[in-house]
Amino acid sequence: MSRQLLIITAPSGAGKTTIVRYLLGHFRQLAFSISATTRPKRDHETDGVDYYFLDHDTFQEKIRQHAFAEYEEVYPGRWYGTLRTEMDRLWNDDKCIVFDIDVLGALNLQSQYPEESLSMFIAPPSLEVLENRLRSRGTETPESLTARLQRAAMELERCNSFDQVIINDDLETACQKAARIVTAFLS
Ligand code: 5GP
Repeated sequence: MSRQLLIITAPSGAGKTTIVRYLLGHFRQLAFSISATTRPKRDHETDGVDYYFLDHDTFQEKIRQHAFAEYEEVYPGRWYGTLRTEMDRLWNDDKCIVFDIDVLGALNLQSQYPEESLSMFIAPPSLEVLENRLRSRGTETPESLTARLQRAAMELERCNSFDQVIINDDLETACQKAARIVTAFLS
């Protein structure tokens, strides 16, 4: 199989992770790219499954070693990146790699792999809906909520740079639309 990348991006809280999980459950050819991050692990997360949780110095050392295909300081002091070793691991297994990454990281990967990638932007119906979803998720402090909303506004402005835009006002409909797009991409 040729090397393929399915790049899924969205403002935080737009439902991206749920759609990614849905796609991974429906297509055997897909495999999730586990990112490295310096943000603290949440209770339900597992190191090496959801993320590779690294301390700040280890992350910076990997930047110097060019170990990342892309990386971003997504929030102040919170670094996220895609390890080249992770991509090779999945391609060696003949998988189409699924990326759940921020908008700038997605643009970066898309420009590195224009022929091999399909990019999908998941948009919330509005910033108000996004704010309500982030509040009800209960994972944010007032400061991190503000940071995520500010970043979301910047990210929404870039939605037209992607191959496909899916507006997530109904999760089931959005999942089905994403699945149709992936079916076409993989065939
Ligand atoms: P969270 O902290 O909610 O898990 O993720 C915050 C943001 O970082 C999300 O938009 C997520 O998609 C993004 N992200 C996760 N992994 C990576 C990565 O490897 N690279 C980049 N650029 N962003 C990432």
